[in-house]
Amino acid sequence: MSGKLSGKVAIVTGAASGIGRAIAERYLQEGARVAIADVRGAAEAAQALGPSALGVTMDVTDERQVDAGVAQVVSSFGGVDVLVSNAGVQIISPLVDLSLADWKKMLAIHLDGAFLTTRACLRQMAAQKRGGSIIYMGSAHSKEASPLKAPYVTAKHGLIGLCKTVAKEGAALGVRANVICPGFVRTPLVEKQIPEQARDLGISEAEVIKNVMLKNTVDGEFTTLQDVAEVALFFAGFPSNALTGQSVVVSHGWFMQ
Ligand code: NAD
Repeated sequence: MSGKLSGKVAIVTGAASGIGRAIAERYLQEGARVAIADVRGAAEAAQALGPSALGVTMDVTDERQVDAGVAQVVSSFGGVDVLVSNAGVQIISPLVDLSLADWKKMLAIHLDGAFLTTRACLRQMAAQKRGGSIIYMGSAHSKEASPLKAPYVTAKHGLIGLCKTVAKEGAALGVRANVICPGFVRTPLVEKQIPEQARDLGISEAEVIKNVMLKNTVDGEFTTLQDVAEVALFFAGFPSNALTGQSVVVSHGWFMQ
């Protein structure tokens, strides 16, 4: 199949649901072969997405599973050209009530996961000698803070530092690294936190949407799965390494750089 990613192999973590799945679908439309890497639902999602999708069950916090998963992709598809480090969760809690276990869990999924998948893919990209693109799923919370989200905001800011370092270390290998920073997108991760924020802030769910999530957008609109997938395609398909070490906020103007 011809397309902007024809001949490319991508690994998308957290691709059984939400944003990751939308990115996987967009990449498949553009001719890539895509590994659907997820801790749950990977095989089912890959089956639904067709023969160019490969389900890889992987907990991104587990070093052995990540290395084995990337090796599985390489043996099935012959290499890796694009990594989208996207797997993530959200825990809503005032900092004073947050357990150390929940803090560590959040940092592990978002930061250990990004490190482990980057390391495995970068090693493979170095061996292949055909460059590559590494994309991190940041957030408007990579740039801005909100109450009740201390570990999420911390981790998402951290991804910017990881990206810039990978951009510098990857340059000699022709590997670029960039971050996508979406505003609120209606995925299971967001649907779950609407009642949780309503409870913790003592307001209605409608007020959470209007006065918390979309308050600072220019038009009161949610960002869509398609919006984020389009930016992910842009980063994956960019024809040179001029575009590296950057972060793009796609949030209806919630955060302006
Ligand atoms: P989602 O819940 O729909 O999907 C997240 C996926 O990650 C799930 O399939 C889940 O199984 C997987 N996952 C969780 N822990 C994992 C682990 N340890 N190993 C492997 N996979 C794991 O959520 P989403 O909204 O699509 O979120 C995807 C990414 O986008 C996250 O990093 C999130 O922080 C980020 N993000 C989301 C929004 C939003 O508004 N939805 C905004 C900005 C950034």
